[in-house]
Amino acid sequence: MDKALLRCKSIEKINNQLYCLKEIESVNRYLIVGTSHALLFDTGYGYLDFKEQIKKITDLPVYVVNSHGHPDHGLGDYLFKNVYIHVNDYYQLLAFDNDSTTKLHTIKYRYKKLPELKNYINEQQYIKPGNLSHTKFHFIKDHDKFDLGNLSLEVIEIPGHTYGSIALFCPEKGWLFTGDSVCYYNIYYQMGLQLQAPWKVYIRSLNRLLNMNKQVSELYPAHGQKPIPLSAAKETKEAIFDLVKNYQDDRMIKTINKDAYAHYYKHTLILYSNEMVKEALHNGLDD
Ligand SMILES: [Zn+2]
Repeated sequence: MDKALLRCKSIEKINNQLYCLKEIESVNRYLIVGTSHALLFDTGYGYLDFKEQIKKITDLPVYVVNSHGHPDHGLGDYLFKNVYIHVNDYYQLLAFDNDSTTKLHTIKYRYKKLPELKNYINEQQYIKPGNLSHTKFHFIKDHDKFDLGNLSLEVIEIPGHTYGSIALFCPEKGWLFTGDSVCYYNIYYQMGLQLQAPWKVYIRSLNRLLNMNKQVSELYPAHGQKPIPLSAAKETKEAIFDLVKNYQDDRMIKTINKDAYAHYYKHTLILYSNEMVKEALHNGLDD
């Protein structure tokens, strides 16, 4: 298998019941395997069909769930007939799918890092609007449960990074899957308040996760290092407070989206807009 295929179709076995199907250096797509069902958390950009990778791991029926509606988590949903997502992110995901210009932009960005991808991707098909029109979406809410037989996954609403962001918690193992909301990686917060919640809402979500400290053994984020400790959520919270106190020194940098201010704090980099500073100064941070 050459480099491009390898990096779109890699299988990393974390243990017998947990696999990571990473797509290039983008999202960590997790496959959790129980005795009656499996669950795929996020589908990535879906540059290449990776269903055969899932088949290599399990023949069980697979629930497909999105952590939120960003393109690197949900554009790959076109590969599946049924997908679960929070209703608050549904329209956002469809809007990305209908935006051929942005889809082309993300592919070009990826070619810079992995030129061989060009040989495998059907670019014209991929950037066509409406690829997700063949997928049926089901809406999930707080405390919904996916029963995988000997394992289960509970939906925890954590609005912030998007209004429809969710985490999944596996009580039998103590695994917490946090999407983009907690990770030792870039946390994007520059898309505007129409698409991303005020800081207070995000902090409330982080507090909710921190309150689960007795139950959580390992945290599996959608990007970067994995697993990481739950203290990463505390660090993210501290990073927001630090940002609002010290934003004056932050520089603007280029990102895959728009340019954004960069605030570094320990393992975390928050990329944000002026609007978010104004929001914090206006509304405060204490919940
Ligand atoms: Zn995201």
